[in-house]
Amino acid sequence: MTKALVIFSGGQDSTTCLFWAKKQFREVQAIAFDYGQRHITELSAAQKIADLANVKLSIFKINLLKSVSHNSLTDNSIDVETDQPDHRPPNTLVEGRNMLFLTYAAIFAKANGVKNLITGVGQADYNGYPDCRNDFIVSLNQTLNLSMDFDYQIHTPLMWLDKSEIWQLADELGVFEIVRDMTITCYHGIAGDGCGVCPSCKLRGRGLSNYLKSKNHE
Ligand code: ZN
Repeated sequence: MTKALVIFSGGQDSTTCLFWAKKQFREVQAIAFDYGQRHITELSAAQKIADLANVKLSIFKINLLKSVSHNSLTDNSIDVETDQPDHRPPNTLVEGRNMLFLTYAAIFAKANGVKNLITGVGQADYNGYPDCRNDFIVSLNQTLNLSMDFDYQIHTPLMWLDKSEIWQLADELGVFEIVRDMTITCYHGIAGDGCGVCPSCKLRGRGLSNYLKSKNHE
């Protein structure tokens, strides 16, 4: 396996995937999307990390997502929910986002002769986002292969890792500090440890303290 394309956002998961990919493949590039997310700081973080990793990053604008649906990640008038009273997904869910991203990434990859696609989705800390599940990825992989008559392989190195194990992987890859300081996971767009109170920061923070605890007990 030689060439790979990482679907990149500048967050903890996709940054870990970027450095994982650099170990696995000879030639790695990254793709990111400006889909009208609340915090465009994500994309500048993505650019800085890609530069540091010496990976070419292509950023594309997808204007439609914001117009066809409403959620708290693209609509500033909707507050980010901290928890849900019922079993529906959180209002940070952008319906169809991963399918669109992977589809655009696949089209771009084929045009560049790249068969390996890497995405940081996972279902260990299942957050109610249906398009983070393995079943979806396996199904889309088959659909993409059929739709473009190309032998794509979607890699999901984080699929079965919880946040603590994702920190461990970053540490094993020698990029713990980069991930901790430079990535943006926070729903309020604050880099590093973030605001500390949004659902995304809480999940990240809990994983980090669990990882540090287990490391100290070794
Ligand atoms: Zn936050």
